[in-house]
Amino acid sequence: MKNVIRTTCPYCGVGCGVLASPKGRIKGDPDHPANFGRLCSKGAALGETLSLDDRVLHPEINGARADWNTALDLVAARFSRAIRDHGPDSVAFYVSGQILTEDYYVANKLMKGFIGSANIDTNSRLCMASSVAGHRRAFGSDIVPGTYEDLDQADLVVLVGSNLAWCHPVLHQRIMAARKARPAMKLVVIDPRRTASAQGADLHLPIRPDGDSALFNLLLAEINARGAVNRDFLTRNVNGFDAALAAAAKASPAMTGLEDDAIKAFLDLWINTDNVVTIWSQGVNQSAHGTDKVGAIINCHLATGRIGRPGMGPFSVTGQPNAMGGREVGGLANMLACHLDIENPEHRHAVQEAWRAPTICTRPGLKAVDLFDACARGDIKALWIIGTNPAVSMPRADRVAAAIRHVPFTVVSDVTRTDTTRLADVVLPALAWGEKSGTVTNSERRISRQRAFLPAPGDARADWRIICDVAARMGWGDSFSYASVHEIFTEYAALSGVAAALGRDFDISGLSELTANEYAHLSPVQWPHPAPPRNGATTDGRFFEQGRFFHPDGKARMVPITAPAVGVPETGRFHLNTGRIRDQWHMMTRTGKSPRLGQHLAEPFTEIHPDDAAEMGVVAGDLVSLQGNGAGAVLRVLISDRIPAGQLFVPMHWSAENSRNGKVNPLIGAATDPVSGQPALKHGSVNATHFRAAWYGFAASLTPLAPPRGPEFPYGTIIRTETGHAIELAGTAPPDDWQALARKLLNLDTADASTLLDKARGTARIAFHRNGRLVGLFFAAPTPVELARAYAISLIGSDTPAGEALAGHPAAARPDPGRKVCACFNVGVNTLRAAILAGAHDAAALGRATAAGTNCGACKPELDALITTTLLQTAAE
Ligand code: SF4
Repeated sequence: MKNVIRTTCPYCGVGCGVLASPKGRIKGDPDHPANFGRLCSKGAALGETLSLDDRVLHPEINGARADWNTALDLVAARFSRAIRDHGPDSVAFYVSGQILTEDYYVANKLMKGFIGSANIDTNSRLCMASSVAGHRRAFGSDIVPGTYEDLDQADLVVLVGSNLAWCHPVLHQRIMAARKARPAMKLVVIDPRRTASAQGADLHLPIRPDGDSALFNLLLAEINARGAVNRDFLTRNVNGFDAALAAAAKASPAMTGLEDDAIKAFLDLWINTDNVVTIWSQGVNQSAHGTDKVGAIINCHLATGRIGRPGMGPFSVTGQPNAMGGREVGGLANMLACHLDIENPEHRHAVQEAWRAPTICTRPGLKAVDLFDACARGDIKALWIIGTNPAVSMPRADRVAAAIRHVPFTVVSDVTRTDTTRLADVVLPALAWGEKSGTVTNSERRISRQRAFLPAPGDARADWRIICDVAARMGWGDSFSYASVHEIFTEYAALSGVAAALGRDFDISGLSELTANEYAHLSPVQWPHPAPPRNGATTDGRFFEQGRFFHPDGKARMVPITAPAVGVPETGRFHLNTGRIRDQWHMMTRTGKSPRLGQHLAEPFTEIHPDDAAEMGVVAGDLVSLQGNGAGAVLRVLISDRIPAGQLFVPMHWSAENSRNGKVNPLIGAATDPVSGQPALKHGSVNATHFRAAWYGFAASLTPLAPPRGPEFPYGTIIRTETGHAIELAGTAPPDDWQALARKLLNLDTADASTLLDKARGTARIAFHRNGRLVGLFFAAPTPVELARAYAISLIGSDTPAGEALAGHPAAARPDPGRKVCACFNVGVNTLRAAILAGAHDAAALGRATAAGTNCGACKPELDALITTTLLQTAAE
């Protein structure tokens, strides 16, 4: 690749190195230690997400284009006025794990050191705040002790509440490769759902929601009962064992919802394997008991001394590319920069002095949920949201949107138009991935450069630059006069040396003297990276082999964990679990641009057990209405025995930008973890009913489409396709004129229409041509439309005549490939089934026959499942 730039993937916390070219060609970086050249389907499709459509390219005030000076003057004036009239705590920043460390650093410095409030929180609060709190409680600081190499070296990997195969695919592939090399290595998955990660695991434990603490308490009690406690490590390095054990003794198998045999198999494996890594992510964190779950896991590692040595340790993996950077830099409302504590006067003084700041916050600020509650109460007079979309991503999302609307002055800096930018008084155009420069930290504490390889479009500016420009207008120009990200980074690295001198763990002072050129060429580096070597970390990058924890006595603390008897009180018929799917990222503002990624699971859906589906009278492809927490959603039915009866799973990705009634987070209540403040986003309680629309529709178009508005459309989802856009629809009453409706939905006022109406069946099929070219197709029926969608989509833009296009399925000579399973090579489910029936009976053979699964490997669990079900079906026939 020519003109290649080394940068880092902007999606998950694995932090894969990427080689990118200005033409948008993307490859994995073979030299990056996080991925050694591998990318998952999302990373591999980054080149398809770089277009400027949907981008915010100019400052806007009340929806009208403005120049930068006017917009920045207004932002500075309104924040200054709010502070003058109502005090520093009347303003707030809500930032993001998507922004870079340097952006985070100046935002945090402005709020905590110059405005004098700690009202800056980040969407990382929604993702891993409970891990932060659990680490701090146990270790005295927010430290992930291990490294990715531990996944290669472990003899047992336990995934708790982590669908690693879909959410951190490159790490999952790394574990799979290690298992292939060492078949004795075991994988256990603890998750209510039998996820893609559980496919092929040695043991899957379908735990009751929030049953994790009880399971790890049972493990701790059994570690003690079997004499597996590492007394030497405990005596030298750990406090609190007896109290933790006494609390653990109260756990019962019934609290886990698991069979006794399954629990015993897990306890045997864990206790009899020295090299055990326990990985967790959102299934643990997004709970009203998240910090305790983290504590219960860490307790077992501390009791056995399985921490800080190769192939063992507790391992939290983060959701966002720079969630870790945000934690380090003080992006959370309850922390100062460099893991220093707001509550500690010595720490506050040190930071204030280093920043030469006029003030410093003296108490923690508002955490995300509390922050938006304060907005709703009218306590926040000026709010700045940077790089995140809380009107979709927060629990009670619709109420959060109303709360933002209630704030007298709201600024949103972002890259694209979102549900949240639509609520702003001022919108500021920020640089996107590929255009901006700085650093991020991944889940193993490795700091990597993100580098620009594209020019800044329109008037877009770097977030750090925008923040510094506002700070200057508020009167603090001297302290925010950075000429580059390099200057910010070296100041930050120097501050970490101050923190280290106060005994803190986060130390990158060895990077504080980097020249601009050295920063430009900085290779990925794991912290700590002190100026002179110091105690705390082993030389191989791990923490705690020799103890040396960060509580004042140098010891870790085991915490007594009271396992919850039940989860969130169930007010509805179903327990609702929310999460991610393989090929989408957060609110789809980037991955939604990739036609390849949109084909795996194209619509917002609810996964439902066959028994529940039968009780409800729904079949695959029907719609269901979910009601809970005073909100509703309408979703496609996906029937699967991977989810237990009585539970529903709904992905979190859809917003009002791309769907009508596809948002799930309004259904989630206000419960938060009492220690971390993290919302229990994975725990809702809903009722579900068959949603019987009067008609269902599917349309494809050459030109962009928008979700339909208005109560006559209870459902509508936009899908980006290789030939334009498609939309799935449902309506409350058939229109008088199908053609007029189709023209309106597809924006095709002037195209020639060919219409086939079957009044007896209530169906409509319409093809639109312009100059002989097929520019739109519309199908409607009283039941969900049966149609070869991939085929219909493929015709758009061609000269296919109406008669052929309206058939809705290909001629026998052109088989329909079906729903895409492999995003890298566009291999559909029908193609795969045909190859399996032709003799490809394992993933390797299927890869040779179709190429599926031979690039990123993220679809491999699905390929395995497809092979099994196809062969079983064949055997039963
Ligand atoms: Fe990006 Fe995928 Fe790597 Fe995560 S695993 S950093 S999404 S390429």
